[in-house]
Amino acid sequence: MMSENALNLNEIRKKYEELKGLGLKLDMSRGKPDTAQLDLSIPMLHTLDDNNFICENGMDVRNYGEFKGIPEVRRLFAEIFGVSAEQVLAGGSSSINMISDALKRCFINGPMEGFTPWSKLEKIKFICPVPGYDWHFHICDTYGIEMLPVVTREDGPDMDEVERLAKDPDVRGMICVPMYSNPTGFTYSDETVERLAAMETAAPDFRLIWDNAYCMHHLYDGDRDELANIYEACLRHGTEDRVLMFTSTSKITFAGGGVCAMAASPANIAFAADLIRYQLVCYDKVNQLCHTRFLPDKKAVEAHMRKHADIVRPKFELVLQTLERELGGLELVRWGRPKGGYFICFEAPEGCAKKIVRLCEEAGVKLTPAGATYPHGLDPKDSIIRIAPTYPPTDELRQALEVFTTAVKLAAAERI
Ligand code: PMP
Repeated sequence: MMSENALNLNEIRKKYEELKGLGLKLDMSRGKPDTAQLDLSIPMLHTLDDNNFICENGMDVRNYGEFKGIPEVRRLFAEIFGVSAEQVLAGGSSSINMISDALKRCFINGPMEGFTPWSKLEKIKFICPVPGYDWHFHICDTYGIEMLPVVTREDGPDMDEVERLAKDPDVRGMICVPMYSNPTGFTYSDETVERLAAMETAAPDFRLIWDNAYCMHHLYDGDRDELANIYEACLRHGTEDRVLMFTSTSKITFAGGGVCAMAASPANIAFAADLIRYQLVCYDKVNQLCHTRFLPDKKAVEAHMRKHADIVRPKFELVLQTLERELGGLELVRWGRPKGGYFICFEAPEGCAKKIVRLCEEAGVKLTPAGATYPHGLDPKDSIIRIAPTYPPTDELRQALEVFTTAVKLAAAERI
């Protein structure tokens, strides 16, 4: 079916050359908040203007102490994760750094008392739902973890395959984004969460790295995805040491300047805390206090996220409307319609993603490299492109989409 969007190669080539001639310089490569979103958190910088630096337990946050985080920030994240505050370690400004650190501890010390450090094992394999987050894959690669890609659908990774792979004793973990996933926008269903908690793993120290970076990032107030509480599911199945949960305020307050946190079972937290204790004296508690004065509880975060959504939602809708108008009916192209997160996942005809990204780049529009959403940058079908609509201003986004849709048409037409 090619209907209204029939591919007239000469016309498309002409249009593409015209767009190329505009000398554009646009960037849709990373999921960054735009300036208006960052401005929403300026008041946070004034929360200590009254010179009151004393946190809840009477400590002056300008001084050393409380390496697990101030009580109010641990409580805030506990509410977000749905666990108790004692199960939370609040850290510095980067959850990805915290994930990387947690894995490093697994390699040096083992995941917990009594387990062999992974560095002493011959092979470490991880289940990696794909398409996924490029930073996860780079971290795994850096640590020599063999990545086993598993296809993700609307309700999460193919669980039959995950359960099959977990029977291999070399498979020590899985790393994933369970909500408004980067880049698919999918949220794991209740059944997926339950099966991840319940499944048998041959490795007794299997760790599920639950990177919940987008847990508060809904686009629509009345129409949200819900993610089941993985920790509660694990408790039900007696696997509570399996999961390590992470998040941050990078896309709530300031990207790279927020506060991150890890939550896990009391045993995991005690083990990690004993090691973190000597990794630093304490994290930046001034920033932690600023955050909790500005966003004291989950309700406050939700209200703040509605303001983000008001800025982000029109950009997502512009992308979806443009794709529908320009590419609707074109064979072999598909895209997601996420209800939250930072990305729209575009599926080009097989063998076209690299070409589309190159065509865009040559016309001045930078996209996430094709393949980046797969381990080692290898998308077996060369079809997934991650669209990150948040950063460019709307007029630039419109231009970028014109280039993108033209590049898709050109690649599709030349393929025929
Ligand atoms: N996890 C995911 C899934 C992300 O998309 C991002 C940001 N792109 C991060 C982690 C990074 O978070 P942080 O800034 O807290 O390191």
